[in-house]
Amino acid sequence: MKIICPYCTSINNVPKKEEYKKVNCGKCKKSLLESKAINIKSEFIDKILSNSDIPVILDFWAPWCQPCQKMKPVFEEVARDFALKALFGKVNAQDEQFLGTRFKIKSIPTLVVFKNGKEVKRISGAMDDEQLTSFVNQFINK
Ligand SMILES: [Zn+2]
Repeated sequence: MKIICPYCTSINNVPKKEEYKKVNCGKCKKSLLESKAINIKSEFIDKILSNSDIPVILDFWAPWCQPCQKMKPVFEEVARDFALKALFGKVNAQDEQFLGTRFKIKSIPTLVVFKNGKEVKRISGAMDDEQLTSFVNQFINK
């Protein structure tokens, strides 16, 4: 399955397994088992959406938005729990206004879920750890 490296955004081909002992990015050599949320820019959004075989969860946020700030560490933490299962991306809606327009974001924070490059779900409002984990879990390929 195609996995986008959260560190260098290169495309990796990772065999689908029940469990992984060691998976490293072919380009930057960082462990893909230690995931993190990517800062999404409009230049590479399409590369990510069309080359990720795992669901992509985008968080549209802005620096001035209080609930977004509260959710930021939650998003980062949950992103680590979903290494090789879901890719988490943060979109700064203030800097990336083009993306806000393209995905018709009306309020923030808004989470948009993509599977195979297509939007399957969106939800607005901040979430805690537990809520975000169970939200993302419903999109994971079992
Ligand atoms: Zn990499």
